[in-house]
Amino acid sequence: MGNAKLYDNHGRVINYLRLAVTDRCNLRCFYCMPEQGITYLPKKELLTFEEIERLVALMASMGISKVRITGGEPFVRTDLMKLIWKIVTTSGIQDVHLTTNGVLTAPYIDELKALSIASVNLSLDTLDKKRFHEITRRDEFDKVMKTFQNLIRHAIPVKINAVVMDGKNIEDILPLIDLTKNNPVSVRFIEEMPFNGAGNHYPQLQWTYKKILDYIRLHHPTLQKINDPDSSTAYHYAIPGYQGDIGIIAAFSRTFCGSCNRIRLTAKGMLKTCLYDDGVLNIRDLIRSGSSDEEIKDRLLQAFAQRPKDGFEAESNRHNHQPASESMSTIGG
Ligand code: SAM
Ligand code: SF4
Repeated sequence: MGNAKLYDNHGRVINYLRLAVTDRCNLRCFYCMPEQGITYLPKKELLTFEEIERLVALMASMGISKVRITGGEPFVRTDLMKLIWKIVTTSGIQDVHLTTNGVLTAPYIDELKALSIASVNLSLDTLDKKRFHEITRRDEFDKVMKTFQNLIRHAIPVKINAVVMDGKNIEDILPLIDLTKNNPVSVRFIEEMPFNGAGNHYPQLQWTYKKILDYIRLHHPTLQKINDPDSSTAYHYAIPGYQGDIGIIAAFSRTFCGSCNRIRLTAKGMLKTCLYDDGVLNIRDLIRSGSSDEEIKDRLLQAFAQRPKDGFEAESNRHNHQPASESMSTIGG
């Protein structure tokens, strides 16, 4: 196991699974979820740990070697660490990453270190406590900062995810960059996507990756382009003398689809072969109707052979014929 190579119909390698373990969350980031009126999935609709473990092992045998645990907020799922241990020890899985909002994370950092988590992406859109409350609608800034400091202290590779929002956190771009001066951290600025569960995205995005880059360059004229790792969704930059680096993710402009190596499994077991599709295969139903590993594998291969070339094609293929607007908490980011 572990040596298989999986390709899609456009010749792109698929080796990265993003696994949403829950749709629930303890924050209400306004770009991700409406403040009220969210209906969470009944627990029986979520994939069980046994189902997840079976699927991860199956996908690892097909060529998946990297897994990211995400959600909703992964740490609101009971016994999350047990699941992570299982995934880390699955044959063929070489590195396991985690995306978290950091509210409940701090007590688990020793254990994350012990299981050699490859990296943690921490969502943090501002360093201002008041703005944190406005953006996330919860008063949890101090806990998130504690998680950040603990991760750095444990020398766990950290990436900060900051969604750039017109009129909300533009004044945070420079302070977030300052974090890279004395910390070995990657701060990534993400274009705001329409996945807010409200269907009211801007007709035109103000803060595109180009505008974010121009803004940073204006304030840091020494900014240098550095190498982007294979299949990276971020354009990477660094300021000479700073310990960390800066990434800009054109998530709305979708400039990175040509080397996309990732698939997604939602909390209720839908396979997504693109962030912008609305689910191409209900794997949970396949499992629960008694399908064998071989049958599931065949269906997965069929889905990988029909992958849209980019996020625009995926969005136009959606079954509901609506533009993407579901909450990111149901997708996993
Ligand atoms: N709750 C965890 C967290 O916030 O880190 C994991 C799930 S969250 C859906 C994963 C990532 O998606 C976060 O970094 C968040 O900032 C990003 N995200 C959510 N909604 C987004 C949107 N509308 N546009 C861009 N990024 C978004
Ligand atoms: Fe929760 Fe993460 Fe969505 Fe914020 S971005 S509401 S923390 S799932």
